[in-house]
This record gives sequence, C-alpha cells and structure tokens, in this order.
Amino acid sequence: MSENPSEKVNWQRRPNAEDQNTKFRIQRAPSKGAILARVLSHDFNGARTHYWGGRTRPCDPVLCEPCDDNQKSRWHGWIFAQDLKTLEVFICEFPPAVGNDLDRKYGELRTLRGVHFKLFRVGGKANSRVVIQFGSQDQDREALPRVPALEPILCAIWGVRVAPVKKSPRMTDHDVERRDDDDGGETFLREHD
Ligand SMILES: [Zn+2]
Repeated sequence: MSENPSEKVNWQRRPNAEDQNTKFRIQRAPSKGAILARVLSHDFNGARTHYWGGRTRPCDPVLCEPCDDNQKSRWHGWIFAQDLKTLEVFICEFPPAVGNDLDRKYGELRTLRGVHFKLFRVGGKANSRVVIQFGSQDQDREALPRVPALEPILCAIWGVRVAPVKKSPRMTDHDVERRDDDDGGETFLREHD
C-alpha cells in the first residue's frame, strides 16, 4: 500500500487537440440572414480540402487519395469569432474572396482581433456569393474571450492526428473512427459555397 495511486494516472494538465473537437461549431454564411460577430483570433488561416467519403478532409500535400482520383480541392479559410447576440464562440468558415478581404484588413490593422463583421450571401441564396462587411474594432481586446490555436482544433475535427495514436485493447479502430463523427451534430463541414 506504499504506492501512490496518483502515479497510476497519466496526468495531463493541458488537453490534447483531439480532446477538443466537440467544443466549437463551424459556421458558414447562412443562405438567409447573416452572421454578426466579432473576430477573436489574431489572424485567420486556410487550407485546401476535399469532400471525400462523406466528410471534409484536408488535401494531403504528400499522399492524397482524392487528388489521385482527380477530385478537385477547394480553399476555405477559418477564424475564431463570437456571435454578437448569443456570445457563442465559434469557428467561422469563409471562401477565398472573403479571405482576401480579411487579409487586406489584417494588413491595415495588424490584428483582426476585436473586428466586428457581417457575413452574408448576396441575393440570399444557398450557393450565392459570400460577402464580408467590416464594422468597428473593439479597443479593449484584453477583455475579449481567449481562443486556442485554430489549426489543432481543425485537425481534430478532420481526424488528422498530430501524434500517432497507440492502439491498445481500449483504443480500437472503432473508437478512433467514432471520434471523427462524435460531434453531436454540431460541427458542419460541407463542400459547397
Ligand atoms: Zn488532395
């Protein structure tokens, strides 16, 4: 009984990226209405993705099955934002033209954090062009919610593992696979823009 039971646990103060994939919804410009939000990230990031096998996955620069099958990839950008009305923190997904506008805004302000924006579709149709309009920028940016790095969260959603997952009787293929889909229907990644 001299053994300390605490030593039998792999304590980990910081959760892995894979532990966080259900925390944030990905929202795109709705077909009707608009997203009214403020940016929480310092900057955005983007990647080319495929819709393949019923889900979104990033285009693998080394070995890409969809590319081998002549499937087109599309660029999408993402940034953390906070809904101005509900205060929900979410990942905002946007198409290339909006990425260009955000890039210009970033060049102008040197940080996107605190910038208010409206994201909507011209003409209010499901696949019509997405436009962003900028409002003011919050001056007290310290008071805004902090957000984690975007990339590990997206990798977790896509099922891209940062470190190899060691398989054991408790970590079956089924468990690993289920994690990709275990988003409670809250994560929306779809192909069209
Ligand atoms: Zn590809």
